[in-house]
Amino acid sequence: MSTPTPYVYTFAEGGRDMAGLLGGKGAGLAEMTRLGLPVPPGFTVTTEACRTYLETGQEPPGLGAAVASALADLERAMGRRLGRADDPLLVSVRSGARFSMPGMMETILDIGLNDDSVVGLAKASGQERFARDSYRRLLQMFGRTVMGVDGALFEQAIAAHTAARGATDDHALGAGEMAALVEEFKAVIRRETGEDFPQDPFEQLYRAIRAVFASWNSERARVYRRREHIPDDLGTAVNIQAMVFGNLGPDSGTGVAFTRDPATGESGVYGDYLPDAQGEDVVAGVRNAVPLTELRHLAPRVYDELGDRLRTLEGHYRDLCDVEFTVERGRLWILQTRVGKRTAEAAFRIAHELRASGTIDADEALARVDGDELTRLMFPRFATRTTDVPVAHGVPASPGAAVGVVVFDSEAAGRRAAAGQHTVLVRRETTPDDLPGMIAAQAVLTSRGGKTSHAAVVARGMGKVCVCGAEDLVVDTAARQFTTPAGVEVHEGDTVSVDGTAGNVYLGAVPLTASEVSGCLETGEATGPLTRAVLSALAHADSVRRLEVRANADTPEDAARARRLGAQGIGLCRTEHMFLGDRRALVEAMILARDDTAREEALAALLPLQREDFTGILAAMDGLPVTIRLLDPPLHEFLPDRVDLAVRLASAAHPDPHDRELLAAVERMHEENPMLGLRGVRLGLAVPGLVAMQVRAIAEAVVHRLREGGRPRAEIMIPLVGTVEELRLARTETEQVLAEVAAGTGTTLDCPVGTMIELPRAALTAGRIAQLADFFSFGTNDLTQTTWGLSRDDAEASFFPLYLEKGVFAASPFETLDQEGVGRLVEIAVEAGRAVHPRLETGVCGEHGGDPASIHFFHRAGLDYVSCSPFRLPAARLEAGRAALTGVTGSDSA
Ligand code: PEP
Ligand code: MG
Repeated sequence: MSTPTPYVYTFAEGGRDMAGLLGGKGAGLAEMTRLGLPVPPGFTVTTEACRTYLETGQEPPGLGAAVASALADLERAMGRRLGRADDPLLVSVRSGARFSMPGMMETILDIGLNDDSVVGLAKASGQERFARDSYRRLLQMFGRTVMGVDGALFEQAIAAHTAARGATDDHALGAGEMAALVEEFKAVIRRETGEDFPQDPFEQLYRAIRAVFASWNSERARVYRRREHIPDDLGTAVNIQAMVFGNLGPDSGTGVAFTRDPATGESGVYGDYLPDAQGEDVVAGVRNAVPLTELRHLAPRVYDELGDRLRTLEGHYRDLCDVEFTVERGRLWILQTRVGKRTAEAAFRIAHELRASGTIDADEALARVDGDELTRLMFPRFATRTTDVPVAHGVPASPGAAVGVVVFDSEAAGRRAAAGQHTVLVRRETTPDDLPGMIAAQAVLTSRGGKTSHAAVVARGMGKVCVCGAEDLVVDTAARQFTTPAGVEVHEGDTVSVDGTAGNVYLGAVPLTASEVSGCLETGEATGPLTRAVLSALAHADSVRRLEVRANADTPEDAARARRLGAQGIGLCRTEHMFLGDRRALVEAMILARDDTAREEALAALLPLQREDFTGILAAMDGLPVTIRLLDPPLHEFLPDRVDLAVRLASAAHPDPHDRELLAAVERMHEENPMLGLRGVRLGLAVPGLVAMQVRAIAEAVVHRLREGGRPRAEIMIPLVGTVEELRLARTETEQVLAEVAAGTGTTLDCPVGTMIELPRAALTAGRIAQLADFFSFGTNDLTQTTWGLSRDDAEASFFPLYLEKGVFAASPFETLDQEGVGRLVEIAVEAGRAVHPRLETGVCGEHGGDPASIHFFHRAGLDYVSCSPFRLPAARLEAGRAALTGVTGSDSA
């Protein structure tokens, strides 16, 4: 065959490792050719040629000659000439990029047909109708793709003929009608473009190649790439291949086959077959395909050969493969293969089974699954029917499916939950006030906020379903109803179904299927092939990972669940949730205290309650570290809403003096930017006695647990430190209290005191801070906000969608760590901290601790652990394991 040139490779010259240059399809065709599989011969024009074309608007010099030479070789191999009048060679021209972009770019079949060669094709095939049909297909595809004619004009002409026949598809049309269509199509092309369809087969070929190049930049291809994060500058390869025909009668056909079931991973032969048809008929869904197993009866020899070929491919690629094939008069041809896409369930099962059969090793099996897939498997799923139409759509913030009656506040959620009802809490947005309702409800639905809004973060933490930012919903909590974009009013007590995986809301109860994976992760016991596969992947991840995995949890129940899910401690126990509910009165008393005595009384009343909280958590995590963060949010978050209070006072016949006092306090404490205000360590320093009370509660809980024979390992964490001076003050007070409790109880207390690094200044001065910190925990939520200068609750709801669409962000920096900016600060701080304290313990407790890509970054940055909500633990363990694999890539791409 031809000498290789930089721009053209025959199938015999390429191979699977050349996907960058030949595209996935070209590399797969070459690999199959090498394996001796029945692939119609052909050649590939490289992505590099495409890139030159896109940059300069011209083919690179020498491409024409290289194509001509490869074509001459192809003609010799086939014993036919392109477009020759007697027995013509026809070729297909197909796009094929590095990454699969199904249906996004162009394909043109039957290149080489013209008014003369169509006669030759009819003669050679003995089928007049087939030849005319092929010609009209070429006119249609070429007209639309290359010459820019509106495809609907061709469709209409076909529809008119089929309707005249009283038929439903073009199969009913005979040779005469096909010939008539050919003439009509030629006329359409002439009318629409002022140009005749080119009769010269070489002109057809070159123009088709150019059209495929250009289709890389079509609007739909660009949109697809943006969504799939495929770089815009890769370009597509073009595959030119001898045509084989599946539409030559009942002993021909076309189909798609998988080496395993891509839905479940079960091994066997799966797919669809369409007798007497060409590939694009399957895609277009003109007629219904039959299950591939039918081929066993239609053509047993072909079926057996296909089975053999599939086994060869799976053995070679060591993975699920899918192929497109054509049967031409009883002869099997394979037109494409690739490592097949699969569901999350199939991914785990296939990886496990290939490992069990010794085809791949444990590392590779682990590399072939990921945390997002595992997360998807952990939720109950809706068994949606095609007739279920969502009434609203929002941000899929916390996956899973839940059915419940609509409630608009915590009180209703609690009341209905107590009566055994499942509920969906609907709010414009949520605040810490809504916490009891979120706990009671099965799902949360909001009309404002993005994936890291309060609703989203808290719901994910609890493993509750959440759809947020459903902006078309008008939520009227006062009237206890919401209105859908279609004007449907949904009232408290009406049933809705919320799909947190897709972001959809349905009226009524959509049936649910439970997740078997979720249960097995807590018990550690497999119940079937899928759970066996999941547990085996996790066990291997645990054995190879360097990063520890801790949980963000602040109740004994969450801590216990986290432990069952594999947590090696608590990386963040937020104490603010312990100041809500009945305790709010005590917090109010502390805030309103007129003098030290009143404040001390309020704090003294809070102390035993906090001690109990910590005792429970330390018991649940006995023997493992529990990082307790001192109070972080601004105090006014614990007071009633300013407007509500003002309205209550204004409308009361006899205003409550307590309300007046509260309103004054709320106004006094009002801040324009509370996120940048009196919170974190600043609060601890400003409110006398607060740090001491919390530290005493922790210390006494530790003593209590020690006396019970436990092994409590509390660590005290100071939030939002910006300078070492703040830490010095907070630490001094902390150590004083620890010493007092130790002395008073005759115990030795070993409680490390560390800090969160969640301000750029803290990261940049980490060397100094490390002198007083026993550990660093990166609060990447605040660190992202303060590095970017954005408030996540506001920004996510307002301009984030625009930024994502315009490509300013590839992903929200609140979901996936901005490695270049925020990540750089993390690296700087780790390095500076360790320079002072080589064994300084470092972890991350922001939302990014549960995000797969971020976990890989934290591994590389040398952190000791990631901490995330209990629900995300299994995925975090899996990803920490995958991050530790070196030199193993995931799925091979054919
Ligand atoms: C953080 O800022 O990353 C963090 C964990 O703290 P919070 O989200 O509670 O502010
Ligand atoms: Mg924070």
